[in-house]
Amino acid sequence: MALMITDECINCDVCEPECPNQAISMGAEYYVIDPGRCTECVGHFDEPQCVQVCPVACIPLNPEHVESREQLLAKFERLQGSAPAPAAGSAHGAPADASS
Ligand code: SF4
Ligand code: SF4
Repeated sequence: MALMITDECINCDVCEPECPNQAISMGAEYYVIDPGRCTECVGHFDEPQCVQVCPVACIPLNPEHVESREQLLAKFERLQGSAPAPAAGSAHGAPADASS
């Protein structure tokens, strides 16, 4: 499921830069999460980063966007495909030389 921000949000700004998918932005009155970009941080982190940092715990699951982990992973992969790729050679280690 995507997550959502409730009207308890105090617009403290701390969650927005933590989102690896740029899913969080300022809405009309308080911050909002784009369900098309929120993967619950699947693919990036074990825990939703926005939930970790929110001081008022106003980021529940969005019941209108029920998704399995597989669907969240597919969304992550789609977002990665459309995002500018970081420089090659980082993070994921060894060159592909695995026997199949
Ligand atoms: S759960 Fe992760 S991907 Fe979703 S809005 Fe929060 S930080 Fe962004
Ligand atoms: S961290 Fe919580 S209170 Fe702060 S802007 Fe984000 S949702 Fe709102």
